[in-house]
Amino acid sequence: MKHVSVVGAGLVGSLWALFLAKRGYSVDVYERRKDPRKTGVAEGRSINLALSDRGWAALEKVGIGEEVRAHAIPMYRRVMHDVAGQLSFQPYGKENQAIYSVSRGGLNRLLVEAAEKQADVRVHFDHRCVDADIEAGTATFETDHGPITSKGSALFATDGAFSKVRAQFQRRDRFNYEQEYIDHGYKELHIPPGPDGQHLMEREALHIWPRGQHMLIALPNPDGSFTCTLFFPMEGTESFEALHNAQVARQFFSAQFSDALTLMPDFEAQWDQNPVSSLVIIRCAPWHVGGKTVLFGDASHAIVPFYGQGMNSGFEDCHVFDRILDAHQDQFDAAFLAFSTERKPNADAIAELAMRNFVEMRDLTGQPEFLLQKKIEAAFSARYPGKWMPLYSQVTFSHIPYADALAAGKRQDAIMQTVMARPNIGEIWQSDEVMEAILAELA
Ligand SMILES: Cc1cc2nc3c(=O)[nH]c(=O)nc-3n(C[C@H](O)[C@H](O)[C@H](O)COP(=O)(O)OP(=O)(O)OC[C@H]3O[C@@H](n4cnc5c(N)ncnc54)[C@H](O)[C@@H]3O)c2cc1C
Repeated sequence: MKHVSVVGAGLVGSLWALFLAKRGYSVDVYERRKDPRKTGVAEGRSINLALSDRGWAALEKVGIGEEVRAHAIPMYRRVMHDVAGQLSFQPYGKENQAIYSVSRGGLNRLLVEAAEKQADVRVHFDHRCVDADIEAGTATFETDHGPITSKGSALFATDGAFSKVRAQFQRRDRFNYEQEYIDHGYKELHIPPGPDGQHLMEREALHIWPRGQHMLIALPNPDGSFTCTLFFPMEGTESFEALHNAQVARQFFSAQFSDALTLMPDFEAQWDQNPVSSLVIIRCAPWHVGGKTVLFGDASHAIVPFYGQGMNSGFEDCHVFDRILDAHQDQFDAAFLAFSTERKPNADAIAELAMRNFVEMRDLTGQPEFLLQKKIEAAFSARYPGKWMPLYSQVTFSHIPYADALAAGKRQDAIMQTVMARPNIGEIWQSDEVMEAILAELA
């Protein structure tokens, strides 16, 4: 039996340990955090995440989809809040298609426990990776009992965007690496449940306050609360830097997000306590050294969160890797190369799509023309289902490779630009004339 090591028991590492165990490997997982079950602290950058089809497919492959679904809240549509508190709506997909709000800490715990239940998986908390020999496929960890070195024939590095294992790749010849901080950062805020534990806004929806250069979003939690995230420039006249104390921030919220502010009774305390965090994009290649060490999840492709695909793409990594191991009869040299080669263009594509979706969410969703364009796409797609799948659906509700979805999305954009330029499009958008014009453009 092959013995391997995984660095990082985050979302991707713990799921990958489960995949490896199901393949019959003996697995040691090393995690720098303390065991949250012993400390009672749920760590993590955002309290909830949107889980969609790519993530579900991986969870289902290892038999834990049902268990996760029991704790997930479907979000069927976007609810946009304008400055006056007026609402507009945009369904995510067809009827009954939804993305799901799940607790980051809860999901991570469930995955770790599912991995630990396997006969030959050990999760070692409080083990911080400090070094790695990536040619040998081993890593060294600091522990309370002194340093230890992993055993096993290969190292799977899922230690996140600031991967210690990747640092060793950066010392190698011909390793490409790019780290980009975007101008925006984020702060999380909380809307508590109502007096009877009910949600104070529509429950099965993702709420957005689109404001051009910035936005607030909110995802529901099972306890009746919402986790809100403000995405805002770090510096400049309208920025976190400029909102330098809670009173100034309240004035800004009162002008921009007054309906959300009224639902946050302890706004000032939250503003002072909750940190501002930055958002980073990581691109690198190649992701592997022979058949000894391989990077995946955020360690090889961290992206901005605006498509809700960071974790989903990491889960898809696990699913794809499992298929590639099948195809190569678990020969690591060939499999690591195939994985890195197949996934890299898709990782680059979802990184680009995620930045594009930021503009869509913070700016376009507040514009009637954009909502009309989406309605036309949905109407055409319903009339000619095999001919047009909206880009959002390709990314979120399909397993089409991200690179193919991006290319198709660019073609669709060009077509919709000509359609939207038609006179009276607002009146004739459902007409045969418009539908046939799209058909002709596609041909
Ligand atoms: C604000 C925000 C919102 C997001 N929302 C979504 C969303 O809605 N949907 C979605 O799909 N994605 C979302 N993401 C992205 C998602 O959080 C990441 O893509 C996902 O967490 C990546 O998982 P990972 O396991 O690769 O990395 P991580 O979750 O970062 O896990 C890495 C693990 O490695 C451990 N580790 C790190 N260094 C060491 C070391 N030296 N030694 C040992 N262990 C180590 C860490 O403690 C951690 O447990 C969001 C991200 C942000 C910032």
